[in-house]
Amino acid sequence: MQTTRSAGLFDRARQVTPGGVNSPVRAFQAVGGTPRFIDRAEGAFLVDVDGNEYVDLVGSWGPMILGHAHPDVLEAVQRTAAKGFSFGTPSENEVLLVEEIVSRVTPVEKVRLVSSGTEATMSAIRLARGYTGRAKVVKFAGCYHGHVDALLASAGSGLATFALPDTPGVTGASAAETIVLPYNDTEALERAFAESGEEIACVITEASPGNMGVVPPLPGFTDAIRRLTREHGALMISDEVMTGFRVSPAGWYGWESGEYGDPAGPGYRHGAADLFTFGKVMGGGFPAAAFGGRAEVMAQLAPEGPVYQAGTLAGNPVATAAGLATLRGTVEHDVYPVLERAADALRAAVTEELSCAGVPHLIQSAGSMFSVFFTDADAVTDYEGARAQDTAAFGRFFQSMLAQGVHLPPAAFEAWFLSLAHTDDVVDRIIAALPAAAKAAAEG
Ligand SMILES: *Cc1c(COP(=O)(O)O)cnc(C)c1O
Repeated sequence: MQTTRSAGLFDRARQVTPGGVNSPVRAFQAVGGTPRFIDRAEGAFLVDVDGNEYVDLVGSWGPMILGHAHPDVLEAVQRTAAKGFSFGTPSENEVLLVEEIVSRVTPVEKVRLVSSGTEATMSAIRLARGYTGRAKVVKFAGCYHGHVDALLASAGSGLATFALPDTPGVTGASAAETIVLPYNDTEALERAFAESGEEIACVITEASPGNMGVVPPLPGFTDAIRRLTREHGALMISDEVMTGFRVSPAGWYGWESGEYGDPAGPGYRHGAADLFTFGKVMGGGFPAAAFGGRAEVMAQLAPEGPVYQAGTLAGNPVATAAGLATLRGTVEHDVYPVLERAADALRAAVTEELSCAGVPHLIQSAGSMFSVFFTDADAVTDYEGARAQDTAAFGRFFQSMLAQGVHLPPAAFEAWFLSLAHTDDVVDRIIAALPAAAKAAAEG
């Protein structure tokens, strides 16, 4: 496979951009080799600047649920862009997109649009602090909520209840207001509330974590977060930036509440989160994200209330048109059964080929969203478990798939993103690459 042009661009990029990329995971540091510079994409396929074609399982990290350049979305974007790009005034698409979100996710009564998932979680936390008049935020290790200072923290030593900065540039003071707990650990959450309940503004959690690999909540865990936040007057923020409108028409909320998922599933005895954050799918590949929830909480937001939040490009007409066309498309084209079918076929084939090659592995799912852990554990329930995988085996697996024209997410801790365009033919192309990749993974 010829990659001269990608390599040349990567060299030039590194001269002018730190690490040559505008988001770290794109640099292939976890897997090695040359990141592919993509020239164009259509349906389930990427074409790089050297002319190589790949089946895409990155999906722009989630947004491209209808596949790349879907005709409905393209038409909406072109039609909207022809009328101007941004007005700095209210516009109709904002109302339509928010109405679409509100109509799908029952507990979400009011929504504010922003431009990235990071902005959504950052603003939701400010709102929770403003609403409760409290400072502390609880988050779970391995959950990613964008690069918000307060959320770039990791658990301190065993006894310390305050967290430490995860990166230079986040102050100790900022991290000290964050409590980091192991995911799926109800007892740890109970202890944190017993110790600091009166200071906790909110608990933020990925609705079903997908940023440490897919680690779904154990039965009752989401409900425990709800119960404890309610008992102690804190808010619960469910981060559905990844799962929103991907796992079901109403995201993980729809799945876990039984509205779309298994009706015998855990459900919510104590009700849903107070605030939700969305991004990825709802922007259709453009910078649009959102946070929303109970009207009474959202009413604290400026200009209705005192908590300040704003954005020059928030609710951008082109981005909202793309998001709206994407959300409508998920229903019109009945995308969820397509994702589930593709996920079922892939999970079965990956299991078979890795087992044949003797590679220890574990597949975990949240609906059609799944990831493959290269581990001999029976289950991964938290970040510690997720980190105990053989990332080198994943690297070899990844490189083999890439060389055979299948572009997986270039890190072991990521979900594989499917789309409406991942039809049986496309899935078969992925499956055909698995035996060699499984063999490569085995040859450590
Ligand atoms: C991607 C992601 C974010 C951050 O969104 P950006 O648009 O990259 O800022 C936040 N939370 C979750 C769960 C995500 O997957």
